[in-house]
Amino acid sequence: MSNKEDVQVLITVPHGDCNKDSLTNRKCDRVAFTVASMIRTSLEEIGILPYFYSNTDIPRQEMDMNRKSSRGSHFRQSITEVLKYMASVDKLAYVFDIHSFPQRGKFPIYFIIHNTREIVDQATSLGSILTIEMGFKIGIYIINSECDIITQAHDHAPGAFPFLIEINEDVTNGVITRLGKNIAKWVALKTREAPPELVAENVANTEPEQVAVKAKEITIDDETLARVEQEGAW
Ligand SMILES: [Zn+2]
Repeated sequence: MSNKEDVQVLITVPHGDCNKDSLTNRKCDRVAFTVASMIRTSLEEIGILPYFYSNTDIPRQEMDMNRKSSRGSHFRQSITEVLKYMASVDKLAYVFDIHSFPQRGKFPIYFIIHNTREIVDQATSLGSILTIEMGFKIGIYIINSECDIITQAHDHAPGAFPFLIEINEDVTNGVITRLGKNIAKWVALKTREAPPELVAENVANTEPEQVAVKAKEITIDDETLARVEQEGAW
């Protein structure tokens, strides 16, 4: 636990280029920028100023900003610099890499994470909060390649907790707003001086077994995964 000032958050949006062509062929993540902006605003409202990097210029067809091949780009190099800085100071650090997908999935929101004990614990913790506060389960899918920004985060800031967050584009604006506020609240709860109004009583009073999120229950089903992979949603 640490002071609120001692938490760092980096928010990235690699597939945010939603120009007219992208909207037609669905190559961009349509709601990712909106979701990322909501998380940013919600964090700022409680005094946590995140780093924010959104690629809204380069279409995914031209260069996929979430792949190894784009590491030399300005967008990715900027992220590398922030990650190196985050690693150089002794602070709790989160990386939220925000995406969205158009398919109907088993869950409205997925976390895509690397398989380390620490990040699985963090993802389960955030998933539990979102389940309790928003009333639906969160899918957690463990992957060890392809999602290059979280790989980059693990490489350059090994103490940080990187999440790739996938939002179903069918979610309402109300869900997006609550998602932003609840993620910000969760980050604040990780700090020692969380504002009292942010301390969720029902979370504190919930026995672990009542929390619906358990790793083995929330693995994305194979059919959805196949569809998502086919479309290259992340
Ligand atoms: Zn994406």
